[in-house]
Amino acid sequence: MWLPKRRPKAAAGRSLATVGAVPPLDASLERCRIAETLLASSARLLNVRSELDVIKGVCEAMCSVSGHICLAWTWFGPATTQVIRPQVFAGRAQDYAAGITIDRNLVTAMGPAYRTLQGKTPEAFRVARWSPFGPWREVAAQHGVRSVLAVPLESTVADMKGLFVIYADHERYFEEVGEGLFVALGALFSSVLNNSAERAALEQIVNQDALTGLLNRRALPIVESRIARKSLFDPRSFVLVIDLDHFKEINDTHGHAVGDEVLRRAASTMRALLRRDDAVMRWGGEEFLVCLADVSEEDALKVAEKLRLSIQNMREPTPVTASIGIAEVMPQRALADTIEIADQALFEAKQSGRNRVCLRA
Ligand code: GH3
Ligand code: MG
Ligand code: MG
Repeated sequence: MWLPKRRPKAAAGRSLATVGAVPPLDASLERCRIAETLLASSARLLNVRSELDVIKGVCEAMCSVSGHICLAWTWFGPATTQVIRPQVFAGRAQDYAAGITIDRNLVTAMGPAYRTLQGKTPEAFRVARWSPFGPWREVAAQHGVRSVLAVPLESTVADMKGLFVIYADHERYFEEVGEGLFVALGALFSSVLNNSAERAALEQIVNQDALTGLLNRRALPIVESRIARKSLFDPRSFVLVIDLDHFKEINDTHGHAVGDEVLRRAASTMRALLRRDDAVMRWGGEEFLVCLADVSEEDALKVAEKLRLSIQNMREPTPVTASIGIAEVMPQRALADTIEIADQALFEAKQSGRNRVCLRA
């Protein structure tokens, strides 16, 4: 079996940050070292990390083993994007990547980033002192960047596309080391990102109520894990079960379409009143479930009262009121049991005249 020779220790540890101090490039050694490291790091990371962590980990491993690669970044988003900003970056020039913004305009549309985004093949180019594209000259001066390879990331999700960009400190780096390794790595990143984008799109479809656009009851585990994460820091959370009053009469008097419109408006009225972190779900029929994270009992009651009033004040397409039951989320109690207790509180609210809020300890 052929194994690459190790680089002498002194050379491996040498700083490459100064311009003009570029060590000689041993292309086959470089290829082997990167391939070996990438295989090992991706195998390890794919098991345990989120998608972006995998990409960051692999890029970091690649930059640290290479010594010639100063920076690697990726972007993934709509193919028609008007702005590209690196989402994941690694390497000694990563501070530069954190500040890159490539707006689409007449000049940049013909530049490497947008050209690669539109095409299917990688683009390698040298960083010329007179380059009109972006602040290349500055990067070249600071980090000794001499050549760049931009690899398109293909997507199985409609209208999504991505970029994987690698910067090296040697003029002929990509000619000598070859593009194959980086294209293969781009394919790995594409699969990782596609899996996550598809899963997110699927989750969205599966967990969304078609009439109101709210989460439906299948999303409860997502809400539950969100609450569990927050309760690590010991705040209090409350569940509200909200049921529209005499809704059957609305359907019977005005028709099902008006009933649907009432549901849509009640949903958007509530969503607009709540914080982003508060989950609002259509629990079924004319019933909604709200999880208020990180609130006191007093504030949970205030929010419930605000929701009740906002529904009462919703005059179109026809007046409607709501009854609300509240229960507190407890670490030692399953969320399903808390919802059951909130349901009992709702029953009390209905029994005592409707259009009111009841809390059960
Ligand atoms: P209460 O005050 O006791 O809650 O009375 P209610 O009439 O609101 O409750 P009930 O359970 O008797 O009726 C609920 C009605 O909601 C019956 C059902 O046809 C209607 N409904 C359920 N889902 C939808 C929907 O998606 N659209 C419309 N328009 N009506 C729905
Ligand atoms: Mg009802
Ligand atoms: Mg009901």
